[in-house]
Amino acid sequence: MAKKHKHFETSVIHEGYDSKDMLGSLATPLFQTSTYTFETAEQGERRFAGEEEGYIYSRLGNPTVSVLEERIAALESGERGLAFGSGMAAVSAILIALTKANDHVLCSSGLYGCTFGLLAMMEEKFNISHDFSAMETKEEIRALIKPETTCIYVETPINPTMKLIDLEMVAEVAHEKGIPVVVDNTFSSPYLQRPLELGCDVVLHSATKYIGGHGDVVAGLAVGKKDFLDKVAMTTLKDIGGIMSPLDAWLLLRGLKTLPIRIDRHCDNAEKIFGKLRNHPKVARVFYPNDESHPDFPIRQKQMKRGGGLISFEIDGTKQDAQRMLNNLKFLKIAVSLGDAETLIQHPSTMTHAVVPEESRLEMGITDQLIRLSAGLEAWEDIWEDLEQALNNL
Ligand SMILES: *Cc1c(COP(=O)(O)O)cnc(C)c1O
Repeated sequence: MAKKHKHFETSVIHEGYDSKDMLGSLATPLFQTSTYTFETAEQGERRFAGEEEGYIYSRLGNPTVSVLEERIAALESGERGLAFGSGMAAVSAILIALTKANDHVLCSSGLYGCTFGLLAMMEEKFNISHDFSAMETKEEIRALIKPETTCIYVETPINPTMKLIDLEMVAEVAHEKGIPVVVDNTFSSPYLQRPLELGCDVVLHSATKYIGGHGDVVAGLAVGKKDFLDKVAMTTLKDIGGIMSPLDAWLLLRGLKTLPIRIDRHCDNAEKIFGKLRNHPKVARVFYPNDESHPDFPIRQKQMKRGGGLISFEIDGTKQDAQRMLNNLKFLKIAVSLGDAETLIQHPSTMTHAVVPEESRLEMGITDQLIRLSAGLEAWEDIWEDLEQALNNL
């Protein structure tokens, strides 16, 4: 699918929709329907045979959802987009589409907790094994690729330590062996990082986060080559059934329009808070990939427009001190998830990463003193005032 608009800021608003097709409606109409009527039995036959374009049933396609799929494909510079009922529905549909029993998946060390859980289930049920790699060098990745490796699965920035992986480098090694690279781009959004432009093959999102941006939708998206996503649409999406509802697609189209403005503000706020946190005596370490002090800063400069809205930091103290810091907050919200207008703060070792065995968790750098903050859109001075008093009162 050819992109119609040159600039991202225009594409987020216009791509995939023409009001002329919809009675002039400026906003994309919400097609809240489960099924579509055929004019004749023969038309139904042609639709099912794929000889005539048109909608059949909303699990197979819906006009509101289709606009979102075209828009995200344009934003990620891919051929086709596909919408799912959650980020995990996207992750599972893509991973299942790329593997069969006894295959192997090579992953970045540091994965979203439920992706970790999914891989464990795939191993138990289908003997699909996996290995983790820091993916710092080509040699390290080559050494872990097996004859049965059918997928390389990467998250960058890695939650919650904000380690970065050089996507261009990973794609080059993977393609020596013809292995596709899948990237979970949730933390960056396509405004900051576009893995397909760096040579990766499939990009996916928990649209629940920055793409929705308003904390009111759980949804997932994937973008890649048309042939591959056509296959996913007709197999692991259609038959497992984790589809997106038309209302959620409508809300995401609305959220997307302000994505560049929101992300710039999330980044501005994160940069300011990072500067304050690193100088606070109760803070032992701060993880934010936008500064010379971060070992992956050169990768950030190479592949991300800005540093993003997430910061993690370690309290100089104990697990109880970290929990007390959260309890001391006056208006900032204690919650998992990220990318919302509200600043959200959470304790990974007892919340998002509680399911990860302690040993793996510590290997991933997730100590009991670690706190993750998703910078919201509030005035940064107010965010800092609340954080500062919570730290000072430890
Ligand atoms: C939230 C998240 C997911 C899962 O998405 P859901 O929409 O909650 O199913 C996957 N990957 C990352 C990086 C996430 O932050």
